[in-house]
Amino acid sequence: MYEVILYYKFTDIEDPESFCEQHKSFCKELGVKGRIYIGREGINGTLGGTPEQMQKYKEHLTAIEGFEGIDFKTDTIDFIPFAKLKCKTRDEIVALHEEDVDPAYGGKYLEPHEWKAVMESGEDYVMIDVRNDYESKIGHFEGAITPDVENFYDFPDWLDQFDAPKDKKVLMYCTGGIRCEKFSVLMKEKGWEDVNQLHGGILRYANEEGGEHYKGKCFVFDDRLVVPVNKDNLEPIARCEITGKPADSYINCANMECNKLFVCSKEGAIKMEGCCSEECRQSEFKRPFDPENAFRPFRKWYNYFDDEFKERELEGNA
Ligand SMILES: [Zn+2]
Repeated sequence: MYEVILYYKFTDIEDPESFCEQHKSFCKELGVKGRIYIGREGINGTLGGTPEQMQKYKEHLTAIEGFEGIDFKTDTIDFIPFAKLKCKTRDEIVALHEEDVDPAYGGKYLEPHEWKAVMESGEDYVMIDVRNDYESKIGHFEGAITPDVENFYDFPDWLDQFDAPKDKKVLMYCTGGIRCEKFSVLMKEKGWEDVNQLHGGILRYANEEGGEHYKGKCFVFDDRLVVPVNKDNLEPIARCEITGKPADSYINCANMECNKLFVCSKEGAIKMEGCCSEECRQSEFKRPFDPENAFRPFRKWYNYFDDEFKERELEGNA
């Protein structure tokens, strides 16, 4: 049995390069896998390993001055959903591409039970899903606006045309909470007054409130790609792009030149040998397909690419 943790902390790191070096060698020695971004504004990571390794990691990180009290979102699974360890410096630990966005001036935290209470109160509000379109497509809260954006840094442009009244109550959520930390600052700067964010995101809500009022599954930036949220409602809300039937699993097209991330059922994957189109199925760059294990091969799709390509494709935010 293994654990996956997801966490972030906004705190000043004076010398991100040397912090990163030290942190990376600690993680290597500990033997954990995953990806960690370190910048002047803090740390943003997701890691996998044994419960003992995760415990040691948490103790190590939270013992550093400024890193106390981190909220680790933890999941238990039967494999480590990362191929290796990546620990890198970044200008922003979650990339909004906006200057001077200080999470200290963000919205009000709603704990999962408070979030649920607001949703059930009949109060008037507007709810924004602060994730990319391919994430909200397979799952989101009831009644949420799911912006048609491909990257987090497209949200400022999206906000420019968002016309909800400035005195309207705003609820926002993302996977683990980090994107709301920045987006809420931006909304307040633009004049919205009552801005609220789900503390700990969908993942903590799923753990603490059982995922009620959430439809579909949650996209995650590791080899699992999707995880369940609402145990009482596992009905897929998306459709397999090959068969057209309800589905909530993602795969990357097996044509390595295409590599498109698309919603695909097991039936669809077998039918098209893991490809998104007939054209891709005929490609000479198609990975070998194992029908006995239709989804397994796709978990490690990025092993087929060089580092620079992986960097581009896996630039995910939690
Ligand atoms: Zn394709």
